[in-house]
Formats: sequence, structure tokens, C-alpha cells
Amino acid sequence: MAEYSKSSRTPPPPIATRNCDDPRIDYKETVYLHKFLTPQAQILSRKRSGFCTQCQRQLKEAIKRARHMALMPFVN
Ligand SMILES: [Zn+2]
Repeated sequence: MAEYSKSSRTPPPPIATRNCDDPRIDYKETVYLHKFLTPQAQILSRKRSGFCTQCQRQLKEAIKRARHMALMPFVN
């Protein structure tokens, strides 16, 4: 997650630079998935991640699957 000052009124830019035609987000790409977690290991909202509805759902499933396989944390 990007560090930015709380006084800034401009929101940080979305993270996702993903084409919807790309293959599904894989739960084994933990380095990629970690970009969409807060420091407390919560999944970023669609507004912050920049994903469309379908891609955000894929991201959610991938992160939850990775958590279940103990590849990613539930909480930091
Ligand atoms: Zn998409």
C-alpha cells in the first residue's frame, strides 16, 4: 500500500493495471496479491484497487484461497 499523508486531499491512484482479458488471477501469485492488501492484511476496496467488478471478485477468491493455503496472512 502506498504511503501518503492524511492531509492530502487527492486520493492515491488505483493499483491495478490489469487487462480484463488476461487469464484469471492465480492464488499462487502471492507477490502480486500482496499489492492489494492494507498493512493490516485487509483486501483493498474496488475503488482503491482499481479493478472492475469481475476482476475484483477474482482477486477476492484468489486472496481467500491463498489465505486458506497459508500462503498469505489473515491479519498482520
Ligand atoms: Zn476486469
